[in-house]
Amino acid sequence: MVNPLYDGLFGIHAGKTTPFLHLPDGQTITHQDFLATSAQIANVMTQIGLTPGDRVAVQVQKSPEALALYAACAQAGLVFLPLNTAYTVDELSYFIENSGASLIVCDGAREGELSDMAGKLGAKVETLNADGSGTLTDQARAMPNSFPTVERNGEDLAAFLYTSGTTGRSKGAMLTQNNLLSNAQTLVREWRFTAEDVLLHALPIFHTHGLFVATNITLAAGSSMIFMPKFDLDQIIARMPEATAMMGVPTFYTRLLDDDRFTGDLTRHMRLFVSGSAPLLAETHVQFEARTGHRILERYGMTETNMNTSNPYDGERRAGTVGFPLPGVELKVTDPETGETLADGEVGQIEVRGPNVFKGYWQMPEKTAAELREDGFFITGDLGKVDEDGYVHIVGRNKDLIISGGYNIYPKEIELVLDDQPGVLESAVIGVPHPDFGETVVGVIVPEKGASPDTDAMMEAVSGALARFKHPRKLVILDELPRNTMGKVQKNVLRDQYQGMFT
Ligand code: ATP
Ligand code: MG
Repeated sequence: MVNPLYDGLFGIHAGKTTPFLHLPDGQTITHQDFLATSAQIANVMTQIGLTPGDRVAVQVQKSPEALALYAACAQAGLVFLPLNTAYTVDELSYFIENSGASLIVCDGAREGELSDMAGKLGAKVETLNADGSGTLTDQARAMPNSFPTVERNGEDLAAFLYTSGTTGRSKGAMLTQNNLLSNAQTLVREWRFTAEDVLLHALPIFHTHGLFVATNITLAAGSSMIFMPKFDLDQIIARMPEATAMMGVPTFYTRLLDDDRFTGDLTRHMRLFVSGSAPLLAETHVQFEARTGHRILERYGMTETNMNTSNPYDGERRAGTVGFPLPGVELKVTDPETGETLADGEVGQIEVRGPNVFKGYWQMPEKTAAELREDGFFITGDLGKVDEDGYVHIVGRNKDLIISGGYNIYPKEIELVLDDQPGVLESAVIGVPHPDFGETVVGVIVPEKGASPDTDAMMEAVSGALARFKHPRKLVILDELPRNTMGKVQKNVLRDQYQGMFT
């Protein structure tokens, strides 16, 4: 039987006693043991009546068993639907109802709260706790440790992954086997992963970064990973000597840089640091290199497409850019009004096409039609440009574009100037309603620890650097920017907070 995703990521390791997961307690799970657990879970799901194509909604803590559940879904032809562990029961009901899941796997503590909803939907509920216990694994232990892989083709759905909800309500992206497999194989080659690699894995596994980028690459290359339940600075520093590579969101890197134990010596043996999910400040890139000698490799992707661009492994990793389109991925920058392709250097909406691009949003035909063109290009919702050397720069999201007095203002341009001012750690520039201009610019500043930046001096610096219509009308100081669980700045929260400032 052929099942490209299962065969390409998991089946290739059948019978191997090579390490796959290194756990916090020092234990190691081999490929063979991992596959035995996933086969047992696949047997449970089949026995309780699930059939290929059914959705399995999963809200559980990160654990080896949670990852085995992903493998089990691939092997049994089920659609894996991981959900953010931070979602409340109310939030969960939207995702579970929306997805039409046949099985809900949740923490034992949630079982009671979810059973009503599950009953209404005709969905079954099984539990999986952070320590790997629960009704799912209890039943699995009594099952055979092999499972006849269900036949699938590359165009069959493998996962529904909900977007992070940074700009509005999360959308379920339908991802096929080929979407996932092609991207994993491309990234293994681009980032030179081999069976010798040991990846430090501290990302959540309900999001594309930790699940598909980090885990799928590790599997496709036959590498192993140090599998941590969450980002814990002490643990990361303690285990780094065993790792060869790390993937993280920008806050991982700023938190490491804030700690004196994070030294050049600690990282000398490391091969690669990758950053993504949110923009890495050029400043962080520079500091990281000064401290460790490593240049962080920044890449750009999203739930709907997996990874689109990456800075080069060999060659210049340019701070403030997300590098070049990956092999097989076409990228163009278009005029949001006309859809015409723009010349290099001009800012417009980023569109991508390739084997990585999803099939559409689950049960949102209008949204799918609006964002996924008939010729296969997906309108990402990000604005950016391609520079003279071919590097892609992201300047922000379409929804964060400020239109003031008829002029388009890209927040990033102003943020770069503000970030450069003395005492400024980071900034976020937003548009708020204004009676004369429609919208006007507000800059939100987060000072460096212990600093109290001078807003008048900052206004002056901005005046010298940028055209008048781009000047913030007001600068606000905040201790920190609102971020969602993926570390993304929630500009909509800031816009809501300051919407009445001029009206
Ligand atoms: P929603 O679509 O629900 O509003 P979201 O877009 O944040 O949420 P994700 O799919 O998790 O959900 O994130 C993808 C987005 O993250 C991209 O569209 C882009 O805006 C941002 N992003 C990812 N990597 C980078 C990067 N290296 N630099 C800048 N932005 C990035
Ligand atoms: Mg998005």
